[in-house]
Amino acid sequence: MLETLGYASPDELMAATVPEDIRLAQTLALGEGLSEQDALEHLRAIAAQNQVWRSFIGLGYANTITPLVIQRNVLENPGWYTQYTPYQPEIAQGRLEALLNFQTMVTDLTGLEIANASLLDEGTAAAEAMTLSFNVRKRKDVKTFWVSDACHPQTIDVVKTRAQPLGIQVVVGDHRNFDVAVPIFGALLQYPATDGAVYDYRDFIVQAHEQKALVTVAADLLSLTLLAPPGELGADIAVGSTQRFGVPLGYGGPHAAYFATLDRYARKLPGRLVGVSKDSYEKPALRLALQTREQHIRRDSATSNICTAQVLLAIMASMYAVYHGPKGLKAIATRIHHLTTTLATALTQAGFSVGTTPYFDTLRVNVGDRQPDIVSRAAQQHINLRILNAETVVVALDETTTEQDIQDLLGIFTGAQSELPQAAASPLAHHCPLSRTSDYLTHPVFNTYHSETEMLRYLQRLQSKDLSLTTAMIPLGSCTMKLNATAEMVPITWPEFGQIHPFVPSDQVRGYHKLFQELEEWLSEITGFAGVSLQPNAGAQGEYTGLLVIREYHRQRGETHRTVCLIPESAHGTNPASAVMAGMKVVAVACDDNGDIDLQDLTAKADKHGDQLAALMVTYPSTHGVFETGIRQICDVVHAHGGQVYMDGANMNAQVGLCRPADFGADVCHLNLHKTFCIPHGGGGPGVGPIGVQDHLKPFLPGHGLVSHVGGEKAIGAVTSAPWGSASILPISWMYIAMMGAAGLKQATEIAILNANYIAHQLRGHYDILYTGKHGLIAHECIIDLRPFRKSAGITVEDVAKRLIDYGFHPPTMSWPVAGTLMIEPTESESKAELDRFCEAMIAIRGEIEAIATHQIDADNNPLKQSPHTTEDLVSDWDRPYDRQQAVFPTNWTRDNKFWPAVNRIDQAFGDRNLACSCPPLTAYKSES
Ligand SMILES: *Cc1c(COP(=O)(O)O)cnc(C)c1O
Repeated sequence: MLETLGYASPDELMAATVPEDIRLAQTLALGEGLSEQDALEHLRAIAAQNQVWRSFIGLGYANTITPLVIQRNVLENPGWYTQYTPYQPEIAQGRLEALLNFQTMVTDLTGLEIANASLLDEGTAAAEAMTLSFNVRKRKDVKTFWVSDACHPQTIDVVKTRAQPLGIQVVVGDHRNFDVAVPIFGALLQYPATDGAVYDYRDFIVQAHEQKALVTVAADLLSLTLLAPPGELGADIAVGSTQRFGVPLGYGGPHAAYFATLDRYARKLPGRLVGVSKDSYEKPALRLALQTREQHIRRDSATSNICTAQVLLAIMASMYAVYHGPKGLKAIATRIHHLTTTLATALTQAGFSVGTTPYFDTLRVNVGDRQPDIVSRAAQQHINLRILNAETVVVALDETTTEQDIQDLLGIFTGAQSELPQAAASPLAHHCPLSRTSDYLTHPVFNTYHSETEMLRYLQRLQSKDLSLTTAMIPLGSCTMKLNATAEMVPITWPEFGQIHPFVPSDQVRGYHKLFQELEEWLSEITGFAGVSLQPNAGAQGEYTGLLVIREYHRQRGETHRTVCLIPESAHGTNPASAVMAGMKVVAVACDDNGDIDLQDLTAKADKHGDQLAALMVTYPSTHGVFETGIRQICDVVHAHGGQVYMDGANMNAQVGLCRPADFGADVCHLNLHKTFCIPHGGGGPGVGPIGVQDHLKPFLPGHGLVSHVGGEKAIGAVTSAPWGSASILPISWMYIAMMGAAGLKQATEIAILNANYIAHQLRGHYDILYTGKHGLIAHECIIDLRPFRKSAGITVEDVAKRLIDYGFHPPTMSWPVAGTLMIEPTESESKAELDRFCEAMIAIRGEIEAIATHQIDADNNPLKQSPHTTEDLVSDWDRPYDRQQAVFPTNWTRDNKFWPAVNRIDQAFGDRNLACSCPPLTAYKSES
């Protein structure tokens, strides 16, 4: 490949690609790479330093049993975890169906009308509910958000962090003495409350509605199988975690949060939404609805910056509901509730008071001065309880709790062995006004797959509709769909990582802390930064966190007036969206014809805003896939005006081992561990977006209200519910770096750049390559221009993308950062054979376009316009000017390895006009039977 490009060595190619003045002289101090076996052995020793105790801590996290059929066939299955976000719905019907099930599950259980396809965690979901309520408020002068003190403390923290830069006042109080005189735009309640109490919020909600405030209820989904759902209590929004639906605790994440609301707020709903549309044969087909709301289009008018969410975990939770069905879920909840009642009865008999009734699974036990004995007896038995205050302990039960556990707990409280009593009648028995009476999960999908055989086949059926990395390269520019090695994935299901509650005492998680420390040190070395925070659980979260850190830096220096954030026109849409959330004013900077930042415009804008300048956000290499040569100068201009440089590190795969953001002028940078550092994309999450910062920003790294040793001395508030975000997937990146070592990481970068340049070289002459650096080279991705074909042949980017599916490939990134183009990023993981196959496909498609342009084939009825082709096409009347062979077997490769899309081209506009975002109603099935 080097020969093709005319270079003698990788070094020579790098010298021509990466600007001289930023190249790293030394080798990264990371040592040699380990073999898979050695790395796993090291990690096993680290994992062994974690202690898996029985935790009854609650706080929104519960032990759960992941059905093994789901663990093996979803969580541990590359057919599911290597998928990309379903932007190409024709090859994503499987995960779209799973997500539609998730949305249906959430709307049914919460009693609301519409739900999205997951958010990052309960705390950020509550914060998103606050912003939605804020944005739709009628009285613009009302800026108070009321939060119940019965919410989980970490939720309150995240809400406070998010409120501050937006000028929202958070008032925390007791809902029982809510002061109606204070005008509020929204309120947040917890159901059941953090100490287990189940309150009837109906009166509160009526009062809040009288002031036109929206009410959000953070609710535990499992409890809603027995309790009247928030929608029936009158709530406008429900949020929460779906973790206890079969997703391991993982020391805090990743888990899928949910967000449900009323139809009238559909267009304000944060995150992605799956909707039902139809394909060209009028068959029902799924797609992401309302995509025009996404931040890459809305930029600074976006209402949320969420991009990567928690798709894989949402799929797991939805499958848990599919497998257990409504009866199974209710049985699980009833059993937990019964055990709780047994414990409550026994404790009451032993003279303890156990808080208000009704309760579901959590008891607030007043232990008075017996607390020290109780705590020490619990520790002896390796049991964690939640210490609420000096006299109160909270015990939360879950699906894994046994009678023996209840016996043990009782012994811990009483200090004696005693018989378990017959539980008294459940406080949630039918006479309770908060008992659930309405049905849920009545749809066939939740009532069909209850045997393992049926479940296995359902999972396989969905998986086979989706193109993942197990089928072919997914050359998505900016997304870095590289290999997620099996050795990297193996540790995430080790119990020492999976079965740990996020709020256990730190001496039980020495292993985790060793892992964090090593990973932080390695990421510091790779980026050159002095400090790293692992808390942000997606790239856009990292942006937001980094900007808050910058904001705090200016504030501490008395420069609160620095609020302007310069962002190049070409930036990823999350950049301006994050800046707005951080309370900054976005000013766009122009790009020149070459796609680079226009230095003159940058200087002019920096001059103009002078002492108002807070930051510049810049992506490097640029979103156009080029190593801009002026990057040092760009950083200097910003620094000269007192601003800070935020680097979007999504393109770090082109830098690792060759240059370091901290060395050439960045003050903060986020990394996408789910891009560069091998965490799989999961169909749209999970992710991790750690930030690295220079020394002067270290004191402000985010802290956490419940855990003291997190973040800097002057830490900003928590940005996620858990102190280390998505802790349980960090072993993936640890394994990657451990196995690669310094030389391996550098080589990977070189190959990534080589692969991209090889593709550009092979396609040149057939397509125009937009934006190249000096010597006509690109970085790790290339943009090909399809705009000329619109005029010459009426062919759009979408036509080419869908036709690539017929050739067995996932289309590259469409129309970003430039409309009418495709951006291709092959990564280092693809072989020359795969790159050649891809180029062969692209060149063949170019020939098909030419046939249209030269009128050899009809402009509307041709392989591109009719793509992608399905088996349905083959058995339909064939009145087309090209044959079936060309349609579905355009290359020899496809004849042997055909990937069949499940549906034909999907009507995007129809789906938005007829928004349907839960499983089709039962009447749709009646006609079939
Ligand atoms: C992926 C990406 C982001 C956002 O990261 P998420 O993890 O999806 O939140 C931001 N900027 C660029 C350039 C990206 O490619």
